[in-house]
Amino acid sequence: MKIFLGDKLVDEKDAVVSVFDHGLLYGDGVFEGIRAYNGRVFLLDEHLDRLYDSAKAIALEISMTKAEISQAVVGTCKANGIADGYIRLVVTRGKGTLGLNPYLCKKDKVIIIAAKIQLYPQELYSTGLKIVTVGTVRNHPEAINPRIKSLNYLNNIMAKIEAINAGCMEGLMLNHKGEVAEASGDNVFAVKNGVLTTPPSSCGALEGLTRNTVMELAQKAGYEVRESVMARYDLYVADEVFLTGTAAEIISVVDIDKRSIGDGKPGTVTSELSALYAEFARSEGTLIK
Ligand code: PMP
Repeated sequence: MKIFLGDKLVDEKDAVVSVFDHGLLYGDGVFEGIRAYNGRVFLLDEHLDRLYDSAKAIALEISMTKAEISQAVVGTCKANGIADGYIRLVVTRGKGTLGLNPYLCKKDKVIIIAAKIQLYPQELYSTGLKIVTVGTVRNHPEAINPRIKSLNYLNNIMAKIEAINAGCMEGLMLNHKGEVAEASGDNVFAVKNGVLTTPPSSCGALEGLTRNTVMELAQKAGYEVRESVMARYDLYVADEVFLTGTAAEIISVVDIDKRSIGDGKPGTVTSELSALYAEFARSEGTLIK
């Protein structure tokens, strides 16, 4: 496998970073998870916009332009023969000292890995997920804003540990006010009487690109879509609940905290949106050439 590291493609065995890199020492950096479908990189410009916004929010200057990173992403897919896959784009603060001071890190480090991913076993897309609410509160926006896709994912990892310990693959996270934020690695939607609702990013959700795409596709398909504050109650009494994310795409949730959602099976709106998403994702994107 070839990895893009710094400014060039290198063999996987040579793709190593310094133990003084602040990405490793402090989780100081930003990242994106991106999909390639059918020989195209899906939503590449949108991922780059979010990456640069995350970097700006943590005062990290990315040494490459968006156009250069875009080319490097496509080049990494090409070098690895990836037409359908998952791309991890990481920018760390770079090599510094053992102290916190990020200004002593002279140059950021750009890493691009193009590989395969399967987040959930295929059968879960037909049976749906069971999830639980976890005790770990989503990061307070004035501590680390959840809109920043930073390398410091401990908040999400703590939630994932709780979910797994409870026998589930995902956990529902609430914000510091007890409002629904998102799952540990995916956004959440409820469908009730044909209306889709998802929490706004101000409630502690990452502004997911899958979320935004699903909102657009649902509106085009004639559904009303709302961003509003949600309580767990809104999920418990929904007709359907689903999660969205780049890796997961769209997956039904059929049980939350031992409450069956709707009739306990993946719903028809979720299936319709999954089909629309699959079609859209395979027809759009930056050509890998
Ligand atoms: N929330 C969190 C915490 C995430 O890490 C992700 C990405 N896996 C998402 C939501 C979904 O975002 P996207 O659709 O852009 O992948």
